[in-house]
Amino acid sequence: MSENCLFCKITKGEIPSYKVYEDEKVFAFRDINPQAPVHILIIPKKHIGGLNTASEEDERILGNIQIIVSKIAKQFSEMGNGFRLVNNCGADGGQTVFHIHYHLLGGRVFGWPPG
Ligand code: ADP
Repeated sequence: MSENCLFCKITKGEIPSYKVYEDEKVFAFRDINPQAPVHILIIPKKHIGGLNTASEEDERILGNIQIIVSKIAKQFSEMGNGFRLVNNCGADGGQTVFHIHYHLLGGRVFGWPPG
């Protein structure tokens, strides 16, 4: 828990969210400003600022998140034939909330390259 971290507060229920998954170490909830019909944020409960500050001790939890993403994706019939998983890292990467999170986006076709 990092004081004044929005996503730490969400994992603790201090700020409300639309939860779609929770276990001992991982929390997932709907993005408040969805960019696709399905837009879920998946985060570790442990406060890690971003992928650029993650360390080897975070290897297991960050790996687990990818498996959990796959399980969550199967819950949504809107997903169609695939989805996109995004991590914005640092200011140049477009990160605005500095608690590591993965965007699970689905329900439409995505272009490449991203903006
Ligand atoms: P960006 O804001 O550019 O998408 P991030 O990758 O840091 O950058 O994503 C932060 C995400 O958190 C945004 O998609 C935003 O809509 C979402 N968000 C911010 N506050 C909340 C909240 N209280 N509940 C759910 N999602 C939130």
